[in-house]
Amino acid sequence: MSSRSKKPEPESPCPECPDGTLERTIVSRTYKVEGRKVRVDGLMPDKCNRCGALVWPEAEARRAREAVALKLRNAAA
Ligand SMILES: [Zn+2]
Repeated sequence: MSSRSKKPEPESPCPECPDGTLERTIVSRTYKVEGRKVRVDGLMPDKCNRCGALVWPEAEARRAREAVALKLRNAAA
């Protein structure tokens, strides 16, 4: 029987490095769309606590795209 203490399973391992664990972070990003810069605040991708890689869950990437589309539409109105 193993005497190693059981570590809690990381929710999402980092795809970039073997020991990293992804943690939710809050960022602002500026997207360039059709020659315009669109800034979106309050996005919540996961960030590796070791190498700093950002990983975008599908739902969050979609939220970012929708926010960009909304801002473009408002700017054009
Ligand atoms: Zn990493």
